[in-house]
Amino acid sequence: MLMIMENRDCVKRMYDRFRTVAQKTGYSSLLSRLWPSDCLLCLEPAGERLVCDNCERLLANTGPRCVRCDLPLAVEGWCAECLANPPAYDDVLSAFDYRFPIDRLVGRFKFSADLAAGAYLGQSLARRAAGAPPPDLLVVSPASVQRLRERGFNPALVLARAVGRELGIPAHGRALAKIRHTPPQAGLDRAARRRNLHGAFAVRECVDGLHVAVVDDVMTTGSTLSAIARELREAGASRVSGWVAARTPELPKEN
Ligand SMILES: [Zn+2]
Ligand SMILES: [Zn+2]
Repeated sequence: MLMIMENRDCVKRMYDRFRTVAQKTGYSSLLSRLWPSDCLLCLEPAGERLVCDNCERLLANTGPRCVRCDLPLAVEGWCAECLANPPAYDDVLSAFDYRFPIDRLVGRFKFSADLAAGAYLGQSLARRAAGAPPPDLLVVSPASVQRLRERGFNPALVLARAVGRELGIPAHGRALAKIRHTPPQAGLDRAARRRNLHGAFAVRECVDGLHVAVVDDVMTTGSTLSAIARELREAGASRVSGWVAARTPELPKEN
C-alpha cells in the first residue's frame, strides 16, 4: 500500500475517481480545497477549474473580429475574404485562436482522447456562445468510419454534447451524413476545396425554419462549414452558425 501511495500518478487516478463521485454527491468543493487540480496548460494549481486564471486571461479571444468568420481584425466588420466571397454560413463563434498552446490541447483531445482537454474546450465554447442568439439545434460534421475506428469517438460530437448540456440546446449527432468520399482538403486552393466538398453532405433531419449551429473542434478555411451550410440552407434552415473551439487566426495563404 505504501509503495502504491508513493506513486503520484496512481494517487492522482484515485483522486480523479473520488472527484467524479464527489461531483455527483456535492463534496467537490471540499475535495478541490484538499487537493486542487493542476492547470491543464501550465500545471500550476487551478483549484476546481481545469485551466488557471492566468492562462485563461492570456488565451481568451478578445478584441475586434470579422462578424461573419470570426477572424481577428484591427476593427470589427467584414474581413477581406468574406467581402470578396461571402460565406454560405451566417456567422462563426470561436472560443480560442488556433495557436500554441491551444493547438496542443486540441491535439491531446483529438488524438490522445484526453477528455479533460475536451471538457475544457467544450466549457470555453459554451462560455463564448452564452451571449449569442441561441440556435434551435447543434449538429456536427460526421466522422468517417475510418476516423471513428482510429479514435473511437467523434471530437466534434463530444464538444456539441458538452455545449448543448451547458446551454440547454439539443445536440444531434446524426443530422448530417457524408454521402461521398472526399480526398483531404490540405493543399487545395479555395475553388478546389469547394469542388471537393460539393454534394458531399446530406441533411437527415428536418431543419426547416430552424437556426442551426454546426459545432467543430477547429476551423481553418471554413470550406467544410460552408459546404454544410449550403446543404442546411437548401433543407430550409433559416440561419446557420459555426461554433468552433479554435479558429486559425490568419487567412490561409492560397486565399
Ligand atoms: Zn495555467
Ligand atoms: Zn471574415
